[in-house]
Amino acid sequence: MTMIKTLGSLALSGLGIAVFGTVLVEIAVAQEPEEWPVHSMERPRPRGVIVKGPVTTPPPADAVVLFDGTSLGAWQGQGNDLPALWKVDHGYFEVAPGTGSIETKQSFGSVQLHLEWATPTPAEGEGQERGNSGVFLMGSYEIQVLDSYRNDTYPDGQAGAVYGQTPPLVNACLPPGQWQSYDIVFHGPRFNPDSSVARPARVTVFQNGVLIQDDVVITGQTVNGRKATYHPHPDRLPLALQDHGKRVRYRNVWLRELGDS
Ligand code: MG
Repeated sequence: MTMIKTLGSLALSGLGIAVFGTVLVEIAVAQEPEEWPVHSMERPRPRGVIVKGPVTTPPPADAVVLFDGTSLGAWQGQGNDLPALWKVDHGYFEVAPGTGSIETKQSFGSVQLHLEWATPTPAEGEGQERGNSGVFLMGSYEIQVLDSYRNDTYPDGQAGAVYGQTPPLVNACLPPGQWQSYDIVFHGPRFNPDSSVARPARVTVFQNGVLIQDDVVITGQTVNGRKATYHPHPDRLPLALQDHGKRVRYRNVWLRELGDS
């Protein structure tokens, strides 16, 4: 956002001249808010919040149940119509490393999404190699899943980050092996006929009942290591979960479609 401030502010970075009637007034344009480079390790770490457990809301009556504890029938391999090959066991499903990411057979636009996840215990690997998976809204916009319990990484890639864009407000992670919850409110983007962005996507996320993303503007499709940009896509697309080679588990996955799709 560009702000106009009077001369003398410490935030001044550029000067200009404006004419009001016959009076010349010097103005200055304040600096843009600081933008951190993608995956900056210098970026401040979100403070930790001790949480006692996940939110485990059962699906309400108008929900689309995407996993009822027994079957991956609502899912398929991402980008194909082959069966989802992840393991189903005792009320949860687990990434089968190397089999690829999975996506819902149905497409969705704006949604309220609930899911629960657990990273492997004992923890293995460091940083991005510890319990990495991800929730890809519309198959395009990743809310990071990671074991961020006593595991440092770049803040825009820790658990609950809009990956490569916005760190979580706080670190509300439970230890590896414990079930954790995400409650996500996502509003999909809209595009103009000339492919420009009419409305960027926005997301709100609660982790274990704690607000970690507060109506955040998503700046484009998730990419690794560079700045995101938008590429037009349909108003409805499958929800995807990431195979990042780690045996992350999921359970109680449901969503409610919101009205602006
Ligand atoms: Mg990931």
